[in-house]
Amino acid sequence: MKNVVLLGSTGSIGTSTVKVAEDLPDDIRLVGLAAGGNAELLAGQVRKFRPELISIASPEKAAELRTQFDGIRVASGEEGLLELATLPSADIVLIAIVGTAGLKPALAAIRAGKDIAVASKEILVMAGEIVMAEARKHGVRVLPVDSEHSAIFQCLDGREPESVRRLILTASGGPFRETPAGQFADITVEQALKHPSWAMGRKITIDSATMFNKGLEMIEARWLFGIPMPQVDVVVHPQSVVHSMVEFVDGSILSQLSTPDMCLPIQYALTCPSRAASERVQTNLAALGRLDFEAPDLAKFPALGQARRAGEIDGTLPAVLNAANEVAVDAFCDRQTSFPGISDAVGQVMDRHEVIGQPSLEQILQADAWAREAARDVLGLGQPTP
Ligand code: NDP
Repeated sequence: MKNVVLLGSTGSIGTSTVKVAEDLPDDIRLVGLAAGGNAELLAGQVRKFRPELISIASPEKAAELRTQFDGIRVASGEEGLLELATLPSADIVLIAIVGTAGLKPALAAIRAGKDIAVASKEILVMAGEIVMAEARKHGVRVLPVDSEHSAIFQCLDGREPESVRRLILTASGGPFRETPAGQFADITVEQALKHPSWAMGRKITIDSATMFNKGLEMIEARWLFGIPMPQVDVVVHPQSVVHSMVEFVDGSILSQLSTPDMCLPIQYALTCPSRAASERVQTNLAALGRLDFEAPDLAKFPALGQARRAGEIDGTLPAVLNAANEVAVDAFCDRQTSFPGISDAVGQVMDRHEVIGQPSLEQILQADAWAREAARDVLGLGQPTP
């Protein structure tokens, strides 16, 4: 039985994790839950799982939840996330908060000796070197939740980085894989939110359409597995059945396959190295018939090149790429910039940035804040309302 704290329980990954906990009541106990704003869904989860501690972003909503539940502690804000991340009874903390709010809880959990399962790729993109060094120092595991990284983790199966020639991340190519570049300026938010193979939160769905998601995943992979950036490759695979691959130095390639369902990598992160029996995911290869692969179009999807550049230069640049992209995605969703405007803005912000090598956490957070402001400037937006 593993005691699990789930940060972001009301989101897409969060609700899939809840399903996994329902599937495996003898293996997984949810001892802590955190939500952003959705108090109603959180309250339903609390009734079902009776965790020890819960947290919600606003103190007002926390006060309201306190009146509903006797014997369950209710916290709020960043403090609540940190309290959950260090909950004494927790064995593992699964972080599935969109954006950068998961970084400090991730470090707090590691320092408290907890394993972490990472869905929030922003954590490793911004501060991969610091997070992995802290995990080594405290002897805890950083486990992947992303399906691509889970696939690589399963294929590597503990082998040393020296045995790897290349990590090959698969990408569905998103909804615009076949759309001519000339039509990109007319892409609407509604079109970008229609992902061909995965149902996910809004931010990551837009990131899949621009392929920023794959760019962030390249940087995430490099830290998780200790593989230099030039050895991290991307291949487009529209069926999203091969979740990623490892090519070893002898030329052999191992891959992990299944129909796309996030419950599988979530379950593996929470139960590995054991395999818990579950009927949820079934894969019929004969019915699928074929698996296609093609090279990504780097001209149509500049995000891939931008992410590679950020990962290779490193320092504060990946945090800047990530923050500028978050602002630009919001601007696109608010119809304040076009679809190609997202990558344009990120490129301009990256060009303006003076990179700091081997940054401290403080310098990373400063670069993040700087990039948000620079992106708003490039996009001609006002300052955000607090
Ligand atoms: P969603 O937008 O669906 O969910 C985000 C979650 O974060 C919600 O539970 C939200 O709460 C919560 N949240 C937001 N801000 C705060 C805060 N300040 N404090 C506490 N909770 C907060 O996102 P996804 O589940 O799609 O993605 C989560 C992360 O996982 C992202 O980093 C994404 O890149 C990554 N990921 C997602 C995959 C997917 O299939 N969806 C696949 C691989 C990685 P509320 O809704 O209550 O406001």
